[in-house]
Amino acid sequence: MTRSAALADTHGRIMRDLRVSITDRCNFRCLYCLPETEEAANFYRTKFDALRNPQPATPIAREWKPKSQILTFEEIERVVRVGVSLGIEKVRVTGGEPLLRSGVEKLVGKLAAIDGITDLAMTTNGFLFGPKAVALRAAGLRRVSFSLDSLDRDNFRKITGRDGLNELLAGIRQAQELGFKPVKVNAVVIRGLNDHEVESLAEFARTENLSLRFIEFMPLDSSRAWQRELVMPGREILARLQSRFELQPVVSDNASETARRWRFADGRGEIGVIAPVTEPFCGHCNRLRLTADGKIRTCLFSLHEHDLKPLLRGDADDSALASRLVEIVRGKEAGHRIGQPDFVQPERTMSCIGG
Ligand code: SAM
Ligand code: SF4
Repeated sequence: MTRSAALADTHGRIMRDLRVSITDRCNFRCLYCLPETEEAANFYRTKFDALRNPQPATPIAREWKPKSQILTFEEIERVVRVGVSLGIEKVRVTGGEPLLRSGVEKLVGKLAAIDGITDLAMTTNGFLFGPKAVALRAAGLRRVSFSLDSLDRDNFRKITGRDGLNELLAGIRQAQELGFKPVKVNAVVIRGLNDHEVESLAEFARTENLSLRFIEFMPLDSSRAWQRELVMPGREILARLQSRFELQPVVSDNASETARRWRFADGRGEIGVIAPVTEPFCGHCNRLRLTADGKIRTCLFSLHEHDLKPLLRGDADDSALASRLVEIVRGKEAGHRIGQPDFVQPERTMSCIGG
């Protein structure tokens, strides 16, 4: 089948990857995303110079979008189907916490039935994975990524605001037993918070035969506590791991891959480093995002969103929707501007955008 290349931007990139946030709600309160308490929003102040940040950060009171503004499963399916007709191949269901959306397995079933999707995956905090795992698998989900930033119960609770490490570890094991492949684990590394766990997380990936991705902390947190000093650069993470493990580079034929990857020389498990802050990969970005309330974002750091709801809830047909998507993609920004003097943090946080 010839793939459409209709979703082309003006920088020579063709969109193949659609991230679909299906809810802005979450049952966790990760301090780098949705901190719940004053202490969590100011976690960095014990470690870094509070003088440069004289105003303590305040956790933002959560206001979830009303249900009427959240896309229905039929609306999501329609956007994805039209996206696939224009060349989208990979779809990732995310959130907020996607497993909070009731009937999520039905949505997965609808998406899995769309001809042309070669890769259907989900990102989850894993807390509710156990009870849903079999249904998700049966519905056609093939890949799942879990967020695991700490193997220490107290640190896990500090980072996520919830005592959920055991449920998450059980979910990871269950995903492996059910044959999800590969089972991926994402760890956001923040200096002074969990950087001391980089080696133990890698060891966990090696012994459990997991694909682990270390991710740099990005300025997408609701309390706007992000500081460059808190970012542990991907190069530093790698150097630490190389001094502990024998790693062999994994060569990928996917030019849009965001992770640089290594396998352990003894053959089990794999690690990758995703460094959007210190080594941006915008030049190869082939991603689009659909928010739970029906907005298309052409970049994680976009300052503008494109609302599809008027089309979806009006009388536009699929070809009008397709034309709109093509037009939106043409305006995709060249790249993010983190570190530039004119960088502006987007209003919406990772939990709303869909990571
Ligand atoms: N709730 C699900 C989860 O945590 O896996 C899915 C949504 S979450 C927004 C998707 C991913 O974004 C997670 O792996 C999370 O760690 C990551 N993330 C959230 N805020 C981030 C930030 N400020 N910088 C880097 N990654 C972040
Ligand atoms: Fe929730 Fe995921 Fe954000 Fe954590 S990273 S608060 S689990 S949306």
